[in-house]
Amino acid sequence: MQVAAYHADTYEEWARTRVAAVGERDGAPWVAVEHCLFHPQGGGQPADRGWVDGHEIVPVRDRESGLVVAVAGGGTALPGFSVGQPVEVRVDLPTRLAHAALHTAGHLIEAAGRAQGWVLAANNHFPGQARIEFTAPEPDARLATPEGREEATEALRMMVARAIAEDLPVTWANDAEGRRIVHLAHVHAAPCGGTHVRSLGDLEDVVLPTLKVKRGRVRVSYDAAHRER
Ligand SMILES: [Zn+2]
Repeated sequence: MQVAAYHADTYEEWARTRVAAVGERDGAPWVAVEHCLFHPQGGGQPADRGWVDGHEIVPVRDRESGLVVAVAGGGTALPGFSVGQPVEVRVDLPTRLAHAALHTAGHLIEAAGRAQGWVLAANNHFPGQARIEFTAPEPDARLATPEGREEATEALRMMVARAIAEDLPVTWANDAEGRRIVHLAHVHAAPCGGTHVRSLGDLEDVVLPTLKVKRGRVRVSYDAAHRER
């Protein structure tokens, strides 16, 4: 039995738990823990990095078992673990918070784009390449000129800055079908399995360069960081 602890608390750095399962992947051993602090890559968000009993790991979603399994990270093989064995787990918190900030800022930019009448087409929350892409179902004359694109970007920046200044809370609840729905107060709601900051005031250095239009899509690149704690 495994609990996705990273859903309950983005900021939980370490815990004592037990080995839930062990196995092999591509000939290398993996270990799955009961209290899982590790978010695997998915939903446009990169994987965490962490440690199990001091051994560096990368979490991966194992399709067969549905578990988040930890495989060796950092080049050294994992030792043999046994089911039920007590272990100490730790997540690389600065990396986790950097990912959570980028990911949460992505939700906020999605909300700002929808307020412009656009529809989400794609997202990527990886450091250094974060962007949200939209389609514009209604003709939007601003998108045709550099000045117009800057004007549209400024409208996004204003909404993003206001939501951050208001420190809007980030919450989640399961819907009737058991999906995890993440809410940015009243401005955004979406099914999501990622990790998020506690409230939008946790975001800083949110930067939106002038948007681009590529292959019929509005592409909003961005950067964001977690504020100093
Ligand atoms: Zn999310």
